[in-house]
Amino acid sequence: MPAPELTSSAADVVVIGAGAAGIGAGRRLLQAGRSFVILEARERIGGRAWTERVGGDPIDFGCGWLHSADRNPWVAIAESHGFAIDRRPPTWGVQAGGVGFKPGEEQDLQASMGRFFERLEAEDEDGPDRPAADLLEPGDRWSPLIDAVNTYVNGTELSKTSLRDYVRYADTDVNWRVPDGYGAVVAAHGRDLPVLTGCAVTAVDHSGRTIRVETTGGTVEARAVIVTLPPTLLAAGAVCFTPDLPDKREAAEGLPLGVADKLFLALDRPEELPAGHVFGRTDRAGTGSYHLKPFGRPLIEGYFGGTLARDLEAGGVEAFAAFATDELAGLFGEAIRGRLRVVAATAWASDPLARGSYSAALPGRADERARLAAPVDGRLFFAGEATSRHDFSTAHGAYRTGVRAAEEALAGLGPA
Ligand SMILES: Cc1cc2nc3c(=O)[nH]c(=O)nc-3n(C[C@H](O)[C@H](O)[C@H](O)COP(=O)(O)OP(=O)(O)OC[C@H]3O[C@@H](n4cnc5c(N)ncnc54)[C@H](O)[C@@H]3O)c2cc1C
Repeated sequence: MPAPELTSSAADVVVIGAGAAGIGAGRRLLQAGRSFVILEARERIGGRAWTERVGGDPIDFGCGWLHSADRNPWVAIAESHGFAIDRRPPTWGVQAGGVGFKPGEEQDLQASMGRFFERLEAEDEDGPDRPAADLLEPGDRWSPLIDAVNTYVNGTELSKTSLRDYVRYADTDVNWRVPDGYGAVVAAHGRDLPVLTGCAVTAVDHSGRTIRVETTGGTVEARAVIVTLPPTLLAAGAVCFTPDLPDKREAAEGLPLGVADKLFLALDRPEELPAGHVFGRTDRAGTGSYHLKPFGRPLIEGYFGGTLARDLEAGGVEAFAAFATDELAGLFGEAIRGRLRVVAATAWASDPLARGSYSAALPGRADERARLAAPVDGRLFFAGEATSRHDFSTAHGAYRTGVRAAEEALAGLGPA
């Protein structure tokens, strides 16, 4: 198929990337009445927000939870597009049926986890940085499972997570879902924006009076550019900037994307399993988190993070399925093996346009978020979840950074 062509060779603003951040920027620019175009390398919009209907049910391959839902802009946006919101609290704090735990153990885990988060909250967000693993109690039997939870939250183990960054993350502990898909909400909000999909930006030349953005579909000139590329791509130099931006590359290197992957299994005779959530194992960090029968559907949604997710990706869908089936058989008995069928699995670390799931600052590198977010010469602006100080790694954080970058660009452009 030939690459899509740009219909106009000039715009006030070019936005690179049509994920949650690019869509946030686009909505703000539309409201301001500016000429702009969003260039998206994929054949779809949404980026790491992505819902697909598989076997009739909408499935979120990327973001699924409206975190900090009581202050999350996507809630009102979803409702404005006619989406229903499931406001029931998540079940991830409880082991359905208590399987895999001996009597009293779940309470021990809750107490240990509670103390871990109390220590985290007691930290100063501008205090000295160190690995978040320093907050684990030496010899605590529950440390591996607390580490496992961190691989779901940050996509990486606590030893590779900046404590200062973790402390800065703001969470109201209100988590809701969209039965028809978070990714579908993000896509709906971008549908009427001027997005060119299948159009990858290859170079940005900001050495002249106007900025030249080179793409696989031609060149466009702009007065301002909003870059929403994941930090993995900036660090790898996937888009060539002239003059070069070594400062941005260095900042991005401190903000690698952790890995989180999902596996969806169809479940036969679902009435024989409780609904809710289970950890696959209680004694290791490399374990899955399984959501049983989400929205009452005959499905199991497995979630894997950190090194485990990376290793399973290397083995393909079969590796995810074998690992999850073994863990589920350990909890519910051997007979469950014959009742599971793979529906889909993600592979975000291998996705060339993401190279991971969400950003987690390396120990000592929390301040790179502000460095990455800083505009260059009042003409290049940076957005994307990794540039958010408090809401990084989320779709609402990404959206807000897009709006922020658009406002910075508008201020630089002056009156329309
Ligand atoms: C498995 C998983 C689970 C998650 N769970 C949650 C959750 O429950 N709740 C939550 O809030 N968040 C969650 N997230 C994180 C959330 O999805 C992301 O933080 C958010 O979607 C990132 O948006 P963004 O716009 O910053 O980046 P992206 O969505 O990555 O957007 C960047 C865009 O740039 C495009 N692009 C890349 N290179 C080029 C190029 N050269 N030219 C043009 N375009 C290019 C990409 O294709 C992409 O569309 C999850 C993510 C994953 C992967």
